[in-house]
Amino acid sequence: MTTRVACIGECMMELSERPDGSLLRGYGGDTLNTALYLARLGVAVDYVTALGDDPWSEEMLAAWAAEGVGTGQVRRLPGRMPGLYIIRTDGSGERSFHYWRDSAAARDLFSGPGAAGTRAALAGYDLVYASGISLSLYGEAGRAALAETCRAVRAKGGRVAFDTNYRPRGWPDKAKAQAAFRDAMAAADLIFASSEDLAWLYGREGEEEVLRHHGRCEIVLKGGGSPPSVRVLASDDDVTVQAPPVEAVVDTTAAGDSFAAAYMAARLAGRPPAEAASCGHRLAGAVIGHRGAVIPRAAMPDLPLTPALGRRS
Ligand code: ADP
Repeated sequence: MTTRVACIGECMMELSERPDGSLLRGYGGDTLNTALYLARLGVAVDYVTALGDDPWSEEMLAAWAAEGVGTGQVRRLPGRMPGLYIIRTDGSGERSFHYWRDSAAARDLFSGPGAAGTRAALAGYDLVYASGISLSLYGEAGRAALAETCRAVRAKGGRVAFDTNYRPRGWPDKAKAQAAFRDAMAAADLIFASSEDLAWLYGREGEEEVLRHHGRCEIVLKGGGSPPSVRVLASDDDVTVQAPPVEAVVDTTAAGDSFAAAYMAARLAGRPPAEAASCGHRLAGAVIGHRGAVIPRAAMPDLPLTPALGRRS
């Protein structure tokens, strides 16, 4: 039986400003990156979000489908639009991000007509993946609905994965983020946590916040350093896996998103945690060697994933 994965979150329109002021259009989002790399690795994955009924929403759907990402659980909200951000690059090459996303359709995934259908559908997946950025979209009521949905997933024998991805600007205050991340980690079976995110959120107690779940769930703790290492704590394992050096780091966009995709694909294929971490490093290493979040297909590393379990035939 095919293992089905759902990635929950928001994809926004991306406009990159060029030196002459013209804008180059693309799209991007952390959990979408993970979904796209999961699909490339042969995993049956759906992206679960809400879009509008505008031409750009149509384009996104077509692009995701072309990458093999399932779009059957994308809700379309009439009259609404996707969020949007502009990337501005200053004279010294420093990039800044500017957002228009408060009324983005994706924020209403867990509210309004159709939300009950989304929740019921999510409960049927084998693995549901969300990030700290996903959490920041929904507000208290939406987060409560997501938490209840995750309980339903687990009650049916499915698993829940949470990737910390903390972006302070997505939250009204730090206390709300701290509480939401605590709840999400307590509800997860697999946690991807970056030491940096944890330190920003919880200060010196950061790692403790995640390590208290050791034994109850699988933890992938991404540390700093160059090349960085990850510590993987699973039932009987506590191993540290160093990333191989990358000759030229071009752009670290989607490093963590692609790492999570390869890690999950390897675990779904029955690989042990340390091997899954190596797969994560290999894919993330390829991703940071290229500009942008999505690398050319030809640049995808050939990861040692077993073809049978949990992969699209
Ligand atoms: P994010 O901040 O997006 O979560 P991280 O900095 O945690 O990303 O990096 C995710 C992964 O990307 C690392 O675990 C590693 O596999 C790879 N990576 C990032 N930076 C480097 C680097 N300098 N050299 C080699 N691999 C790297």
